[in-house]
Amino acid sequence: MPAYDVLVIGAGIIGLSTAFQLAKRKKKVLVLDRGDVGSGTSGACDHMILLQSKLPGLPLQMAMLSLEMYQAWQRDLGENLWFETRGGMILVDKPQHLSFMERFVEEQRSIGLNVTMLSREQIRKKQPFVSERVLASTYCPDDSQIDPFSVLKALLKAGTTLGMELKKFSRVVALERKSNHWLVKIQDGTTYEADVVVCAAGVWSREVCRMVGLDVPIKPKRGQILVTEPIESVGETDVWDSDYIIAKHMSHLQEDETAKKLGLGFAMSKTHSGNYLIGSTREYVGFDRSTSFEALVAITKRLIELFPIFKNVRIIRTFAGLRPACEDGKYVIGEDPENPGFFVATGHEGDGIALAPITGALLVQMICGEKPSLPIQELSPARFRDFKKEEKPSFQRGRSS
Ligand SMILES: Cc1cc2nc3c(=O)[nH]c(=O)nc-3n(C[C@H](O)[C@H](O)[C@H](O)COP(=O)(O)OP(=O)(O)OC[C@H]3O[C@@H](n4cnc5c(N)ncnc54)[C@H](O)[C@@H]3O)c2cc1C
Repeated sequence: MPAYDVLVIGAGIIGLSTAFQLAKRKKKVLVLDRGDVGSGTSGACDHMILLQSKLPGLPLQMAMLSLEMYQAWQRDLGENLWFETRGGMILVDKPQHLSFMERFVEEQRSIGLNVTMLSREQIRKKQPFVSERVLASTYCPDDSQIDPFSVLKALLKAGTTLGMELKKFSRVVALERKSNHWLVKIQDGTTYEADVVVCAAGVWSREVCRMVGLDVPIKPKRGQILVTEPIESVGETDVWDSDYIIAKHMSHLQEDETAKKLGLGFAMSKTHSGNYLIGSTREYVGFDRSTSFEALVAITKRLIELFPIFKNVRIIRTFAGLRPACEDGKYVIGEDPENPGFFVATGHEGDGIALAPITGALLVQMICGEKPSLPIQELSPARFRDFKKEEKPSFQRGRSS
């Protein structure tokens, strides 16, 4: 009999959320990571449980459920996750984006999100330092944030207390199905046995899935961030611009050449320690995690355009992370139909922090043989089995570039 019920590949936020929730269901769980906890994207990102950026439908539904789960985790995990509901605004300073954003808000409202359009007076009340160029803004009072490092730490601690094991610096190099369980080999030759394997390997998921003959077209999408010195709040909420929504969901509509090349969309949020995180880009540059002068200048220029008060604020650090983006723009959650007991949880792009709790919950339901509480068939990796029979995956066909 295998030593473990479930072996999770990846100690990022998706892997640890899944492992913790499995341990709660009394499963014997081993987590393997090629590096340290949070050494992938979950340690190089923003911190938002942003509802407003989600497409109306399954992504928004998942985010709303995840928000409730984070509230429970903040209560129950016994650690400060720095959960805070500051609300969010998406600023519009380009007249041609106005009707599009109004429609986006209407659609989200129709499926129950508490989001509205603000008058100019209301905007200035919430953001007294915003530039006069801003014409309109959305407002969602429920947009929230956590601290990803604190969440990782809390999940690890709570999972370990329940018997979950973690082996760091253990890179999975081969997966083999033997009778009715899995053999998982790491770089030093050690082999682990488990009934079920979960691939939560972020941007490396394609490499891991190929070990079982499944081609999941995940590609890294770089995002660059500037970190300011700690300062007093400049406004009541966290802030994005309408280009952020365009860069995320329909990049072909970006007008400006530099913005298009960099996938530029403005994001500004305040951390619990008073530093502001300012971003960001959406770039396909392989696994390159460096920052670029061109992007940092473009982000800063946009910051000063929207919030001139920041010209006297010091930038103390910059970093870049890689979003795990699936070619068809959807998350990948479910069991590989050609490999019973091999589950995939990846492709969360810029939503993995927000969606970690619900992703783990859905996987646990499937692994325990229950019906998932949301209709997530469209997210199944089965779509790449069918897809492969028709044609080879090509990133050029993706919705964003
Ligand atoms: C700039 C930026 C801003 C973002 N802002 C937000 C935000 O505000 N809100 C939000 O919801 N999301 C945000 N995201 C997205 C979010 O960070 C990701 O979706 C999420 O972190 C992905 O988590 P993961 O667990 O899938 O991947 P990771 O955190 O990368 O974890 C995967 C793990 O798998 C391990 N691994 C890989 N291959 C192997 C192997 N062969 N063997 C063993 N281990 C392996 C890696 O070492 C890694 O630790 C942002 C991302 C970026 C880049």
